[in-house]
Amino acid sequence: MKLHLQTLFVAIGLGIKRNWHIFLAIIAGILLGNFFHEHSDTWVPFVKFLNIIGQAFIRVIQMVVIPLVCSAIVVGISSIGDSKQIGKFGKKMILYYALITIAAVVIGAFLVLTFKPGIGVQSYISQSSSIEIQNLVNNALMEQRGQLGNIFLDMIPQNPIESLAKGEMIPIIFFALIFSLALSKIGEINRPIVSFFESVFAATMKVTDWIMVFAAPGIFALTTVAVSNFGLSIFTTITKFLAVIFIGLGIQLFVVYPLMLKFFSKVPVGNFFTAIIEALLVAFGTASSSATLPLTIACCEKRGISHKVCSFVLPLGATLNMDGTALFQTAAVIFLTQAYGITLEPLQIIQVMLLAIIASSTCAGILGAGLITIALVLNGLGLTPQQLVEGFAFLFAIDRVVDMTRTTVNVASDAVVAAIIADNENEIDYDLLNNTEEYKEII
Ligand code: ASP
Repeated sequence: MKLHLQTLFVAIGLGIKRNWHIFLAIIAGILLGNFFHEHSDTWVPFVKFLNIIGQAFIRVIQMVVIPLVCSAIVVGISSIGDSKQIGKFGKKMILYYALITIAAVVIGAFLVLTFKPGIGVQSYISQSSSIEIQNLVNNALMEQRGQLGNIFLDMIPQNPIESLAKGEMIPIIFFALIFSLALSKIGEINRPIVSFFESVFAATMKVTDWIMVFAAPGIFALTTVAVSNFGLSIFTTITKFLAVIFIGLGIQLFVVYPLMLKFFSKVPVGNFFTAIIEALLVAFGTASSSATLPLTIACCEKRGISHKVCSFVLPLGATLNMDGTALFQTAAVIFLTQAYGITLEPLQIIQVMLLAIIASSTCAGILGAGLITIALVLNGLGLTPQQLVEGFAFLFAIDRVVDMTRTTVNVASDAVVAAIIADNENEIDYDLLNNTEEYKEII
């Protein structure tokens, strides 16, 4: 018996791949987090300790995101050189991201209109909001309303250095794209800058490799803390709503993406998912597409998708393409109107879906951002200010578990679109993708 246990520990420690370590860390985190939730008083100091470990893990990955995004875009775009090819990549990217997000909002609306999870839950929604949360969401609602008109202006940085310092992803990407395009047009004189960014890219990838050594404990800590806040009993109280969201996200991940891969490319679905599984697990643990971006790029490039495609499609996807979030926002808003007995006209449902597409793409790839921008979608549907605040507060209370799942979907779709474009443009090495034992050293 002793020997068996020993063998098991050695296998867990050495013999199995890192993906499995992270997977086991998530399972252990869910179980332990639930235990802490049920015995919350005794374990508070330990949960606080785990929170520090988890936050430290997120911070170190976030630390590389800005230098990585800038360097990936500069190196990628200046290596494409030809602006016609960039235009081709850009058009395809918009087309596929749009298709994937439209599928998401249609699935979200269809499921919630069919299963009607909102009927009869009004009293539960009203109870769930504490005054503290109500104040918080009230402020968020006011802020979002003020921002609606500025969405497009805010994409253009007045001062790129300020945007860099504040970590504003969309303005940074906007500037990096234009700057790199200019670099690609000035000939050999661009070499010092491009070489500089090549080094920055290689170094940030190396740091990502190091960080991933700590992925299992980091994800374990994050999952434990998250589950200790809500507890698994959450699934029994609002089962139907959560089931609709999870089924929707599941359809997107396991039906829509494989269909898109089959329909628009010859990328083998199984090998593709094996290639990106590590990024998906990290997305689940961190609930942040931005923080997962270094991993998404590493997984895709290691298994044969060219740097040209990854550096262009993935950073933009991590900030603009949030189909999981759009699905959640559509379903959640229709759910709330059902709970308050408001019947939406077909045109209003279309309005919800369109606003969810806009709201999701303006949200940052960080924890909980999709919940804040949902305020845009909730406007003008006949909910009273009190109902808006209550509904919003209810969603707030259950958001972490939903966020982990929708972020996994957001990250998967970025990689799906990168793979399809790489296939269409002959920018994928199928020998690498099809041989699960092989990978390319990026650095
Ligand atoms: N956390 C999500 C992401 O990073 C955004 C959201 O809150 O929906 O992709």
